[in-house]
Amino acid sequence: MTAELISGTEISKAILAEIKQEVDEMREKTGTVPGLVTILVGENPASVSYVTLKVKTALNLGFKEIQDNQPADISEQDLLALIDKYNNDPEIHGILVQLPLPDHVDDKKVLDAIDPDKDVDAFHPVNVGRLMIGGDVVRFLPCTPAGIQELIVRSGTETSGAEVVVVGRSNIVGKPIAMMMAQKGVGANSTVTIVHTRTKDLAAHCQRADILIVAAGVPNLVKPEWIKPGSTVIDVGVNRIGTNEKTGKAILRGDVDFDKAKEIAGKITPVPGGVGPMTICMLMRNTLRSAQKSI
Ligand code: NAP
Repeated sequence: MTAELISGTEISKAILAEIKQEVDEMREKTGTVPGLVTILVGENPASVSYVTLKVKTALNLGFKEIQDNQPADISEQDLLALIDKYNNDPEIHGILVQLPLPDHVDDKKVLDAIDPDKDVDAFHPVNVGRLMIGGDVVRFLPCTPAGIQELIVRSGTETSGAEVVVVGRSNIVGKPIAMMMAQKGVGANSTVTIVHTRTKDLAAHCQRADILIVAAGVPNLVKPEWIKPGSTVIDVGVNRIGTNEKTGKAILRGDVDFDKAKEIAGKITPVPGGVGPMTICMLMRNTLRSAQKSI
């Protein structure tokens, strides 16, 4: 059997088209468009490339987009003042501070200074708390977990009553996606297990997963024999395993042995082209929802 491929590239395109349509309608009805500011401190090449992609996507959707580049030696106080300025700007509905920040700046202090109602990355403790409570109080879902849940739903995978196993317990992926899948509601109502480096029998847990979500950052961690036949496998891992000599580009692999796993799973995400493209897409959707709420 060869699994059905869950293409984040295709699904994210469809979602971006839906967002664009909503932005067009908003502009027509209210004269307003979603406003997103991306604050980049310094010139870390990976950060520059992420921010460039975010800015390009926002502009393509018709957002008001401010790319606010700051020097690497900006003081923490000046950065906090900048965030305060955007917190009070009614045309800005989403504030994104690209991480990592320079060592002399306290990341936590900076992220906590963002107005929780403009925190489109959903890293603020208030939004983490809202996620835990679930239901109507949730304002924003963190982008990568939201993208994972969207892939599960749009691939037609049944989540209600499903055994979900999440490999990894980080604050940005493992813990939030586990909580989201356990909540009451559409695309959730699952029975969730979180596993990590101290788990005694990783294979046994994975083997009973109807939905296996892997976010460990270890190439080929999940062996084909760990996969339940017919299950849905979401591979979040992005691991650079080398460089393509011809193109000079990084060779990327997930946390799952994809070539063998696809012969056992029912549905599976590739790396690249699976979860990756969904993250920016969900950031855009959070900004749109924030603008809709403020109007
Ligand atoms: P992280 O903070 O390093 O957390 C990794 C988690 O995996 C930890 O909880 C760790 O357990 C667990 N783990 C590591 N090795 C393990 C093993 N051998 N057995 C069982 N558990 C193991 O990583 P992250 O930020 O969550 O990211 C995970 C992966 O997803 C990375 O490859 C990252 O690049 C990728 N990622 C992709 C996207 C995207 O596509 N948009 C976004 C975010 C992350 P302990 O807690 O016990 O150490």
